[in-house]
Amino acid sequence: MELHEENSFKIRSYQSALNSLERGDQDLMDLSEDELQKIPGVGKSILEAILSLKETETFPALEELLEKTPSGVLEILQIKGLGPKKVKVLWQEIGITSTHELMEACQSGKVAKTKGFGEKTQQTIIENLEFKASNEGKWLYADVEATILTLTKELEVLYQGSEIAIVADFARKMEIISSAEWLIGMESLFGGKEKLKNWKTITWDMSASGPFAWRGKVNDLDLMVTVHFCSKKEFLWKKILLSSSPAFLGELITEKENVGDLLNKKDYSSEEEFFKNHKLEFIPVEMREGFGEVALAKEHKIGVLLEDSDLKGILHNHSTYSDGKHSLKQMAEYCRDLGYEYLGISDHSRTAFYAGGLEVERIIKQHQEIDELNKELAPFKIFKGIESDILPDGSLDYPDDVLESFDFIVSSIHSILNMDIKKATNRLLTAIENPYTTILGHPTGRLLLRRAGYPIDHKTIIDACAKNKVVIEINANPWRLDLDWRWVRYAMDQGVMLSINPDAHEMDGYSDMKYGVLTGRKGGLTKDMTLNALSREEVDSYFSKRKASIKSKSK
Ligand SMILES: [Zn+2]
Ligand SMILES: [Zn+2]
Repeated sequence: MELHEENSFKIRSYQSALNSLERGDQDLMDLSEDELQKIPGVGKSILEAILSLKETETFPALEELLEKTPSGVLEILQIKGLGPKKVKVLWQEIGITSTHELMEACQSGKVAKTKGFGEKTQQTIIENLEFKASNEGKWLYADVEATILTLTKELEVLYQGSEIAIVADFARKMEIISSAEWLIGMESLFGGKEKLKNWKTITWDMSASGPFAWRGKVNDLDLMVTVHFCSKKEFLWKKILLSSSPAFLGELITEKENVGDLLNKKDYSSEEEFFKNHKLEFIPVEMREGFGEVALAKEHKIGVLLEDSDLKGILHNHSTYSDGKHSLKQMAEYCRDLGYEYLGISDHSRTAFYAGGLEVERIIKQHQEIDELNKELAPFKIFKGIESDILPDGSLDYPDDVLESFDFIVSSIHSILNMDIKKATNRLLTAIENPYTTILGHPTGRLLLRRAGYPIDHKTIIDACAKNKVVIEINANPWRLDLDWRWVRYAMDQGVMLSINPDAHEMDGYSDMKYGVLTGRKGGLTKDMTLNALSREEVDSYFSKRKASIKSKSK
């Protein structure tokens, strides 16, 4: 509507209806007409739109607007930093109707010369377009997980009696998946492949396929698919090969032979046996990346990786006190009902005004409510926390006497993300050296496939966390998975503990914990290095000791 300069009153009425609809936690599809009408902001035309959406998955006003808008312009609207006003100028004044044309106009300098844009905006558009192009066909693990598991079931029906395994990136639980791959082991390599033609979910690309693999794309989804074939006899060998990264296969086991060479001897009848034969500790699939796993396995340093069931509590969560969807009580009861022993609430701090950051009076009120709930819900315990913004100079968001009132503090950067590596690292270092920081939140601020994080010197940051006994979070939100798994081992080696934090903004958000566990496991995380694998009593005394050490230092 903004793109087409519709009446601003009308635009605002849609916006306010949307805001109030998003605040509720009920599924619109379950509400009756009467109930819908009671929602603030839902007037006659919005009600009609919702009713039409229920029936037809669209509504006339939307269809009208879509008809008037080239699909390329809609794509341009998705680019970060380009609001409807700017997109309108690009479209109607320079005639740009696709991302391809936009890139050309940027490269020729035309965009910079357009009123309201300039060199800097043009450069940002180029970077965002390049970022977008490099992510084409790529998916977050969590976003394709259900699809890949469903496809696996379909394959199993199609190939009953054959051996089937998910291989490649998904088998290794990569944070980003660019192709779904399976291996099918059949009695004989001849015959049977043609059955894939009956798999209607996939459009095959025969020119890219061969005798050992068929390639195609999932219908209606920009996801590549490969089905590999082998005989049952070769299944185990091929499965390990296709599930490992090339770098892992290249790691030397003996002086002259690497993993791939020794696998090719096919003198083992299980994965376990292969590792045992070469005096290696078992290396779980998700770790087979080529980051020195063989050397670790030789010294038996892999250990038992963290499991979902090891986690005893959930730290770093938001409630309606800031930008969460559910109340403190709802968040706590649901956490308890899931079987956890404690919850750490850490709403946003006051500088994050856009996210309802807490002024000091609200903190006092929240602490009173927590005290009452803790009596009611005992032995379950809510720990008083805050997600303190790390201000541009690295300081935390409240004076010391307020910071002192929390059990724990997650310190995170949320604004002014445009920093070079030196600036970003120093900003984090100041926060890490602040004795009130318990946990460093999402260290790079990245949003996978959406924006790169600010650059940081990981080693310096992790070393400082070790020195100041700061825990680093593995933010379990599938968009973040930050700390990156590639740094988990280094952190553990320096004695830094990690915490699997869902950063839940609603009750359902707790289910993201599993993606944090996957990330931790990929990095080799064990239970004893995980903060929230501690029991309620243990974490309680951990927080108390840390607070006591601040007091003794300041005296
Ligand atoms: Zn945050
Ligand atoms: Zn948060």
